[in-house]
Amino acid sequence: MSDVEVRVPDIGDFADVPVIEVLVKVGDTVAVEDPLITLESDKATMDVPSPVAGTIKQLAVKLGDKVAEGSVLLTVEAAGSDAAPAAGSDAGPAAGAPRATSAYAAAPPPPAGGSRDTQVLVIGSGPGGYTAAFRAADLGLKTMLVERYETLGGVCLNVGCIPSKTLLHAARVIAESEEMAEHGVSFGAADVDLGKLMEFKTGVVGKLTGGLKQLAKARKVEVVTGTAKFTGANSVAVADRTITFDSCIIAAGSHAVKLPFIPDDPRVIDSTGALSPDEIPKRLLVLGGGIIGLEMATVYDALGAKVTVVEMQNQLIPGCDPEIVKPLHARISKRYESILLGTQVTAVKANKTGLKVSFSEGKDQVFDQILVAVGRTPNGKALDADKAGVNVDERGFIPVDKQQRTNVPGIYAIGDIVGNPMLAHKATHEAKVAAEVIAGVAGAEFDAKTIPSVAYTDPEVAWMGLTETAAKADGIKYEKSSLPWAASGRALGLGRSEGVTKLLWEPETKRLLGASIVGTGAGDLIAETVLALEAGLDAQDISLTVHPHPTLSETIAFAAEVEDGTITDLMPRRG
Ligand SMILES: Cc1cc2nc3c(=O)[nH]c(=O)nc-3n(C[C@H](O)[C@H](O)[C@H](O)COP(=O)(O)OP(=O)(O)OC[C@H]3O[C@@H](n4cnc5c(N)ncnc54)[C@H](O)[C@@H]3O)c2cc1C
Repeated sequence: MSDVEVRVPDIGDFADVPVIEVLVKVGDTVAVEDPLITLESDKATMDVPSPVAGTIKQLAVKLGDKVAEGSVLLTVEAAGSDAAPAAGSDAGPAAGAPRATSAYAAAPPPPAGGSRDTQVLVIGSGPGGYTAAFRAADLGLKTMLVERYETLGGVCLNVGCIPSKTLLHAARVIAESEEMAEHGVSFGAADVDLGKLMEFKTGVVGKLTGGLKQLAKARKVEVVTGTAKFTGANSVAVADRTITFDSCIIAAGSHAVKLPFIPDDPRVIDSTGALSPDEIPKRLLVLGGGIIGLEMATVYDALGAKVTVVEMQNQLIPGCDPEIVKPLHARISKRYESILLGTQVTAVKANKTGLKVSFSEGKDQVFDQILVAVGRTPNGKALDADKAGVNVDERGFIPVDKQQRTNVPGIYAIGDIVGNPMLAHKATHEAKVAAEVIAGVAGAEFDAKTIPSVAYTDPEVAWMGLTETAAKADGIKYEKSSLPWAASGRALGLGRSEGVTKLLWEPETKRLLGASIVGTGAGDLIAETVLALEAGLDAQDISLTVHPHPTLSETIAFAAEVEDGTITDLMPRRG
């Protein structure tokens, strides 16, 4: 055993940095990378991790003390052979595969499963499943991936994020070229070869899903095709084969909700059908004004359909701040046939000449096609999870803790099946946590401060962290600063000045609490605010960060300047 002094690492040009949290006490046992002390500079907070596993022997600082680089914080009595910081698994990750990241130091993975077929079995190959399988394999664990379809990639790659964004790009080009006519550049009406456009979309999907097979092969992840059902707490059946495992990660995703009163008719489609049209309907009813419905409406409008959107709530994208949805609503009101808010579809009759739809308000109407986009429901009830003893709630979600553990030791769940928001980037982050927890990586848990949401409509709508709607509902105090894009030279040059960048701040500290952006490229812009939130940045941090000119990213800096009182690109405040 040896004593290891833990000192303040390189923290940049800061002296007198306060200790804002002491996370351990004398006698505590710690693992490598466990956070020990939290420091706060005027730029960010940082945890000082333990370089070794062992026992806290002595604390050299207390809450509120000021420290600088090199100051001794505490002493850890290192635990024998565990003393050496683990740089990576010694179980031999795949060649060229990333080692454990600096954020999480890898502990040795558990011993091989002896008589069992695999150490880790992953059910489902969507963004959650394939990420979990690849991360587990990279951490040296023998891994199998079961997928019911021949093609890997799940909803996201095959019938979700990727094909929808490919078609949305085509829609964007069509709409922009139409609108340039107002500014003196005309191309004529778009001549769409639907077959070729579908080939492009299928090609993009094929490249990604084919790539997954290669990535699995390179990592020696065995892919099994078939539907997995639990037969016990350490086994699943896939067709007539039984596979036994030490640990299992359930990543079985979700499916589109069906409405029972809508007839089974080929002219009634869900988002999967909408992504592979044979022809564009003359009149399309989009049932549901949420993200998926509005994205598909954007595509069909650009491809020539007369679109009606019906939403039972009183605003599109319910949950998002109304003022952020407003510019989207205003723009699509001009392009679409109609937008019916606070309205329910009460009946649909399939006639030879069309689908006759009755609404809670107004007259019946006939449509050529109906896209049902009223949400997605988890696949938790289709796994025979009870045979493993895994709890599934009445909606089909599988409850998990921060380490993605279900109620059954050794069984984890990730992605859409564990809860909202049902988004690919949530699934991939949860996937890495589950694989790392299984491999024994110290500190692995899902502790993201926010999961950003984006509607890739035109204009795009994106938000993260606290929204004003939630702040008002929960009585959370906040300050708000907004930058109307009419003040952005870049937005004006794009002919798209309807956007708004809105930031919410903690009144006392001026730290960023949330951001909502509507406008061209909002989905890309929101990433900066997510980073700012994770890093605990305040209005001055953002406003003093030099943003390139002229870019839409400046709207974030300008909105921070509004909060900071230094904005010069708007009229001066009165009084
Ligand atoms: C039209 C559309 C657009 C979307 N756009 C976006 C977007 O832009 N950004 C975003 O973040 N999210 C988007 N999403 C949501 C995103 O696709 C999901 O959040 C994501 O795919 C969830 O990943 P997952 O791994 O949890 O599950 P899934 O992707 O649903 O994958 C689950 C996999 O498990 C398989 N499976 C299920 N049961 C079994 C079983 N018993 N045995 C074997 N295999 C099984 C399924 O076949 C499937 O392949 C979109 C969704 C749709 C429908």
